[in-house]
Amino acid sequence: MNNQNLQQINLKSLIRTVPDFPKPGIQFKDITPVLRNPTSFKSAIDQMTSPFDKTSIDTVVAIEARGYLLGAGIALKIGSGIVPVRKPNKLPWLTFEESYELEYGSETLQIHQDAIAKGDNVLLVDDVLATGGTLRATINLVERFGANIVGISLLAELTFLNGREQLKGLQAHSVISY
Ligand code: AMP
Repeated sequence: MNNQNLQQINLKSLIRTVPDFPKPGIQFKDITPVLRNPTSFKSAIDQMTSPFDKTSIDTVVAIEARGYLLGAGIALKIGSGIVPVRKPNKLPWLTFEESYELEYGSETLQIHQDAIAKGDNVLLVDDVLATGGTLRATINLVERFGANIVGISLLAELTFLNGREQLKGLQAHSVISY
């Protein structure tokens, strides 16, 4: 077994699956045990960053809310800035917004209108890829700026939900697969 697989298994063993949270039928991947331990937190950030070691990145775009915890670590490591994508009515300045369908109802995400410059190299960061709706909406938001999405970094991916189909062929890397 190579080093990468060993690290993946260690992180995977720390992620807690909580049944029926936040609603019946959802198997929630709780990453807080990974974050609270300095060794596993550092390993998560290192593994989320390494596929993009040779990529020039101006800005990390991180998705509310667990994406902020990982995105901030990645941005500091690569020496980029960070931009939050937030749920409605949280950002104080002018925003662009994008709505998408959930299993029941819909969700909206917002970003500040001056958050990204045209031509910026942007890395998108979130904790878990499920159906891909959240990332698809984020991609649409970032594309409005004429920015260049160089990749997507995720801690975990629920492959059986086929979320990658929403990612428009962008380079997406997840440390852990379910
Ligand atoms: P989706 O839009 O379906 O890909 O959902 C992704 C977003 O919802 C991410 O921001 C995740 O934090 C969260 N999410 C969805 N499903 C789960 C899950 N089973 N466990 C933890 N977080 C999830």
